[in-house]
Amino acid sequence: MTEVPNSDNSQSSELNRKGSRTETVDPQATEEDLGTENRLRPNSLGTYCGQNQVKDSLTIAIEAAKARSEPLDHILFHGPPGLGKTTLAMILAAEMGVSIRITSGPALERAGDLAALLTSLQPGDILFIDEIHRLSLAVEEVLYPAMEDFSVDIILGKGPKARDVRLKIAPFTLVGATTRYAMISQPLRDRFGSTFRLDFYDIEALSQILERSAEVLKCSFDHDGLVEIANRSRGTARVANRLLRRVRDYADVRADGQITKETASNALEQLEIDDLGLDRMDRELLTALANRFDGGPAGLETIAAAISEESDTIMDVYEPFLLKEGLIVRTPRGRVLTRFGYAHIGIEPPQHSETSQSQQSGLWSNPSD
Ligand code: ADP
Repeated sequence: MTEVPNSDNSQSSELNRKGSRTETVDPQATEEDLGTENRLRPNSLGTYCGQNQVKDSLTIAIEAAKARSEPLDHILFHGPPGLGKTTLAMILAAEMGVSIRITSGPALERAGDLAALLTSLQPGDILFIDEIHRLSLAVEEVLYPAMEDFSVDIILGKGPKARDVRLKIAPFTLVGATTRYAMISQPLRDRFGSTFRLDFYDIEALSQILERSAEVLKCSFDHDGLVEIANRSRGTARVANRLLRRVRDYADVRADGQITKETASNALEQLEIDDLGLDRMDRELLTALANRFDGGPAGLETIAAAISEESDTIMDVYEPFLLKEGLIVRTPRGRVLTRFGYAHIGIEPPQHSETSQSQQSGLWSNPSD
């Protein structure tokens, strides 16, 4: 867990590693990338681009809480990685003028870990739990009275003399984040005052994010150069910022340092990122579906084994964008490559039997048609 602003770095890196959020989200991120990522985080709602409905609702919640001198109600953010859930939690703390403590589901191994954290919170503090769907049931149960009554039940003593004691804790705000909303138990969901789904960013919002980041990084750029990067950023802020850093490297070494449409396009081609923003692993997944499974349906574990990737990474990182773009669809029997998916990897779809064609009818559509 970390506390911001009074962070304990040794503990923070240990727990972040346990939480493995960064590894899952961006396996290629270097230490330098991770440091830069923090520099690129907007620190106010005003500089946070896009997600306008979420921002509007949060602005109202912040004003109301401040006017009543109360902490914010508990908030849950869900959506694919890299869309800005952690950033929003930090912004909430900054806007409310309170400290934020950051931890993650896998880092809270025992109920006592969470109880210790909860009893150390100051009034109004924000507790951010990333990957909240990965809390164990025993730990989750500590959260219920904490969220509802600001109290923690602990057991004093051992054996027959042990007794339950209910401790009052400071009123706080729990901000949870998850990439798997469906895996959060109903009792936990019910205890959040608001739940927000973050969506993929459109090109305009991504271009704004890139412009701000390019200014922070002191890059020299033109608008078309940033739009080219935005187009290939999978609708994801973290990807956009990562590509910007790679394009900046390329522009410095292979061009005159200016990020233009041409430099961006050449740099991204060199990184094997195609027009849709798919990388080699995305294309391997689509190709495996086409060549090994006759277009599917194929189960997640089967695909994972075929391309030697973790099924969690496929589900959290690769799949949401492939689904959104209509390259694959999810059916009860597994993942199916669409006609658009076949076209994207340049493979002819097989001639299906009548039954399988009728099973797939409705799936075979190109979303850009
Ligand atoms: P998540 O917690 O959803 O995985 P983060 O909050 O860690 O995502 O965001 C990843 C990176 O993307 C951050 O470093 C931040 O700089 C950037 N980012 C995310 N959302 C926005 C936004 N709306 N505006 C500007 N930058 C953003």
